[in-house]
Formats: sequence, C-alpha cells, structure tokens
Amino acid sequence: MTSLSAKIQDVFDEPACDNNRGKDAKARKEGCSKPLTPGAAAGGCAFDGAKIVLQPITDVAHLVHAPIACEGNSWDNRGAASSGPTLWRTSFTTDLTELDVVMGQGERKLFKAIREIKETYAPAAVFVYSTCVTALIGDDIDAVCKRAAEKFGLAVVPINAPGLAGSKNLGNKLAAEALLDHVIGTVEPDDAGPYDINILGEFNLSGEFWLVKPLLERIGIRVRACIPGDARYIDIASAHRARATMMVCSSALINLARKMEERWDIPFFEGSFYGITDTSEALRNLAELLVRKGADAEILDRTDTLIAEQEAIAWKKLEAYRRRLQGKRVLLNTGGVKSWSVVHALMEIGMEIVGTSVKKSTVEDKERIKRILKDENHMFEQMAARDLYAMLSKHKADIMLSGGRTQFIALKAKTPWLDINQERQHPYAGYDGMVELVRQIDLAIHNPIWGQVREPAPWDCQPAGEDDLASTKNGTATVNAFNEFVGATAHRLGER
Ligand code: SF4
Repeated sequence: MTSLSAKIQDVFDEPACDNNRGKDAKARKEGCSKPLTPGAAAGGCAFDGAKIVLQPITDVAHLVHAPIACEGNSWDNRGAASSGPTLWRTSFTTDLTELDVVMGQGERKLFKAIREIKETYAPAAVFVYSTCVTALIGDDIDAVCKRAAEKFGLAVVPINAPGLAGSKNLGNKLAAEALLDHVIGTVEPDDAGPYDINILGEFNLSGEFWLVKPLLERIGIRVRACIPGDARYIDIASAHRARATMMVCSSALINLARKMEERWDIPFFEGSFYGITDTSEALRNLAELLVRKGADAEILDRTDTLIAEQEAIAWKKLEAYRRRLQGKRVLLNTGGVKSWSVVHALMEIGMEIVGTSVKKSTVEDKERIKRILKDENHMFEQMAARDLYAMLSKHKADIMLSGGRTQFIALKAKTPWLDINQERQHPYAGYDGMVELVRQIDLAIHNPIWGQVREPAPWDCQPAGEDDLASTKNGTATVNAFNEFVGATAHRLGER
C-alpha cells in the first residue's frame, strides 16, 4: 500500500499538471515539493477538496472519520443534483471525542459505524474520509476499510486526504487517486460499447448536465460515467471501459484523466459545455475521439446535423436578448474553465468583457482568453475587494458575474450581480443553458430595482426651504425652553 506521503508526492509530480508542464526536465524531476504556505488551506483543506469531488456520487454513504466539526465544515458545499438516490445528502461521521482519542477507540468506532451504515442504509459503497485528527493519532483507515469490506461484503473505500496534507486542490487529486486505487476497474460491464464516454469534473450543478446528456444520447453517445455529478458507484467502477473522456475541470481531476489514458488507453481532451460554440466543439471532439477509437464514422454526420439544428434553435431564442444586451459591459470574477468559456459565450451575443479573473485558470485557460479577447489587459489575477468596489461604483461594468463571496461588493456598488459559481440556482450548460444564462443576465440588468436604489435618498435631495429654516428655528426654541426648564427646576431644588 502506497503511503500517504508517497501518494502526495506522486500527485505533486503529476506531469500533466499545469505547473509541471511549464518546467524543464530537471525541474520536473524534482517535482513540486514546495512546502505549503501557512494559511493555504484557508479556502478549504485537502479533506474538503476530496469531499467536494466525491460527495456528488449519489448512492454512496460518505463517512467522515473525525470529530464532528469536519463534517459540519464540508457538508453540502455545492448544489449538485441527483436524479435518484438521496443517500449522499445524509451526513455520516464517527464523531470522535477526546475520550475516544485518549482511549484509542478510533478504529473500533469506525468499524462499528460502517456496520451500522450497512445495516441501516444498504449503500452501494461506503467512502471513509480520514481527517487531521484521525491521521495524527495514526488510525489505519486502510486496514479498517479492508476488514469491513471482507466482513460485510461491501465496497468500503478509504479516502486518504486529511486536511493537514494541503489545499483543497490537492484534496481533489487525492480523491481521484482513491478512485483509481479502489474503484475504477473493479466491475466489468457486460454492455460496453464503442460509443461509451466518461465526463470528468462535471458536478451537475443545478442539474445542468441534464441539459447536455440528451444531446449526447441523440447522437448515440452513452455516458458510462460522469464523475462526480449524479454518479452511481457502479458506473464509476466500470468507467475503465469507456472509449473517450472529456475533462470539464482540468485543475481538479487532471491526474485521473491522464492515468486513465495511461492504464486503459482512454484518450481525453479538455472542453466546456458553456456557450454555443464551445458546446458544439465539445460534441465534435467527442465524436472524433470515438471514431479514432473505432466507432463508425457516421457519428460525425449525426453530430454535425445535431449541432446545426441546436445552434439554429439557440440563436433564434437569443436574438430577443441580443438587442437588449448588445454593448452591455460584463465583469467576470470567477476563474478556471469559466474564465474563458463564459467570456466566449457572452461575446457571442455582443456583450463587452471589461475584465475576467484568471485566479484558478491554467496556462491553457489563459491562452484561450488571450485568443478570444485579443487583449490580455482585461485579464486580472485577483482583484482586492476595495478595487472591485471602486471599479463597480464608477459604473465601469453593467453587471458582475461571480461567486457568492463577492456578491455584496456588487450590491453595495448598486451593480447587478449574477452567481455563476457552485451555489448558482440555474443550469447554464449546453445550448439551453446558454439561453438561460443570457435570460438571467437580462433579468438582472433590467431589474427595475436598480432604477430605484440608484436614486438619491429623499433626505439627501430635499432643498433647504423655509420649512427647514422654521423647523430649525423651532428646534432652537425648544432647546432654549428645555434649558430654561432645567435651570428653573435646579434653582427650586436648591431652595429646598
Ligand atoms: S480535516 Fe483538518 S483542516 Fe479539514 S476541517 Fe477537519 S480539522 Fe479542519
């Protein structure tokens, strides 16, 4: 069994990782051994990152081996949707106490918890997450999971990504390693076919993958595993029989895509389902990869026919918004794949991009933005809240698209705002998703509330007329009368 430190080193050395690709051969050999910056886990620890990637697997019981706070910290962190099982929404933790730690009861408690889950919920599998405390006291979750799996005839998967190992992003990759070590390849499907694909890094937020899956099905492509959005354990266990992979979020699961190519010869590409052009390009790339792997070339024609039909429908729907949004200025404060795919999508309908953040974007993401915007001055790494507020309050953008953390900066600057990060309420993927995104932008920009909140308050705009002078005079008179009353009262009390 590979130790945790060796596994972390392996993930740091990932050759397909954006940082490592930029190094020369010597530097790459040394890997990415830079010690962690203190506070680097403030945006989410490694355990949190692993939980984000795995929790949307819907028929699995996700058991956190820790004091109760870790589960409280990580549960329900994004709005992934399930088309069936709801078990993943149930919170399971061993709720370790000081007494358990002192008495060395951690492993025993974990084993009992797995048994209880198996008997009460009969899950497809149990994923057991290690955390800081249980890693520090040396609980061997690999051994407990192995024994429980044998005893209960159930898949029990150790997820070795304790918070102290590093950042959220590292946790994403350690979760992928756990899938590679314990899940993918453990079930041989009896229905594998030449049109099977995997989608990696798709979370099915607000059910948006359901806007794309029917398109794939119409051209005859079957999604064997979407990891992790709306996934079932058995789909992931048999994902090694897919013929092609599309990676939606490269920064999270690049090691999974590369190692699946290495182990099972499944080629992958990075794409996006945000925007009309990008959705069409993703469908075409998938079809081409499948043909390369032996599928009938006829799928290419089917794909082109579907793209032509869907693009025409989408553009027709968007036409109504084009007139209302043409020339409106957008500030994008997001990152990763959205930094370019949404830029592209909005420019398609004539909106102007005044800035896009590239905080979590890879080198490829940045190159794409440069190509799309034809100007790198609109890219910014990170903008301090003060600068963001200054920009918005000077009306340099008509709307900001970002995550919930910066929403109040926009609202304080009386600027329309739309959530496009993980807590968003609307599905934006595929052709219909693009129409929905534009509809939401239109609703936000043209909401009549902005006219009202931007008007000066009544007390700021009333001219100083005679009434005000009179009231001032009256006020002075009242104060004088009060002073006289206090003086007289004090005098009378003094006389007594
Ligand atoms: S795993 Fe560690 S850093 Fe993460 S929530 Fe638990 S105690 Fe905090």
